[in-house]
Amino acid sequence: MANIAKDIKSVLEFYQALGFDMLPIKIKSLVNSHQSLLKTSDQWPMTNNRSVKLSDKVAALKALRDEIGDCKRCRLSEGRTNLVFGEGNPDARIMFIGEGPGREEDLQARPFVGDAGTLLTRLIEKMGFKREDVYIANIVKCRPPMNRDPEKDEIESCRVFVERQIEIINPEVIISLGRISAQTLIGDVALKITAIRGNFFDYKGTPLMPTFHPAYLLRNPKDKWLTWSDVQKVLEKLEVKNSNTDNY
Ligand code: URA
Repeated sequence: MANIAKDIKSVLEFYQALGFDMLPIKIKSLVNSHQSLLKTSDQWPMTNNRSVKLSDKVAALKALRDEIGDCKRCRLSEGRTNLVFGEGNPDARIMFIGEGPGREEDLQARPFVGDAGTLLTRLIEKMGFKREDVYIANIVKCRPPMNRDPEKDEIESCRVFVERQIEIINPEVIISLGRISAQTLIGDVALKITAIRGNFFDYKGTPLMPTFHPAYLLRNPKDKWLTWSDVQKVLEKLEVKNSNTDNY
């Protein structure tokens, strides 16, 4: 019970940091299911929080990071050097979501800073943004051993945090990188990235564009033009003019 109270307190503090002083939810649902309270998107008071002040978003992200703490919710904590929360502009128009930290990310506590990160940064710049303009996060916050795919229960323990990051940042478009990220956010583990990339999906009211993971593109550079064409669709949606016609 003490843990439930702690969870409820931290969720309420999270909303308070976002600037809300009341919640449109029934007390019964608070008491009956603190787990569903953690997955608050269904009860989110407004679908578009772009009017939320930057300082409130910064505070909400900090409250979320504090809530994650020295996380031991799944076995990935055992092998990590650092938890990789995510970084970037809390007011970003675009949020990139990868799978989970690799070796370099684990060491530096920053997402996408290894070779795949260098390619992602090049893509972002070719799109006409700076890396600091966007927000970059992962589905799981700790490095899976030997860079294996995160397992279902590991994803389930962690997904609430990326969902909360998306809620706080409220980007105009999400770009999911690779199969695991797309499957997790779209909610269908049978999806094939080759079949779905390049098509917009709906993530709780926000358009989501799945594309290839940069690590895949490092191994298969001939497919980079496909990701380039996927992000052109995102730029069109954002009405961003980009004179870069060449690949990245
Ligand atoms: N791959 C990912 O999915 N995320 C990172 O942060 C780095 C590599």
